[in-house]
Amino acid sequence: MSTNKKNVVIIEPDECKGCERCVLACPKSVLTMSTALNKYGFPYAFYAGDGCIGCGGCFYSCPEPGAITIIEEYED
Ligand code: SF4
Ligand code: SF4
Repeated sequence: MSTNKKNVVIIEPDECKGCERCVLACPKSVLTMSTALNKYGFPYAFYAGDGCIGCGGCFYSCPEPGAITIIEEYED
């Protein structure tokens, strides 16, 4: 049996202030800024959905507690 680990980044749009620090910090360039605005009028970062290596760079660069969550998913 093999187990595949997959990293998933969840960014809460309304917790994001649009500073782009996470986008610049990501070594895999898998985060981008939205063209839509959140409820406070800021563009927000989002995960393209593939390629995250779980390094934590985005999480540690973000000044907004609760905006970014990184989870590890395991698939059999
Ligand atoms: S954990 Fe690392 S690779 Fe994944 S989105 Fe954040 S900065 Fe990019
Ligand atoms: S670092 Fe945080 S506040 Fe800044 S764009 Fe990324 S998620 Fe939004």
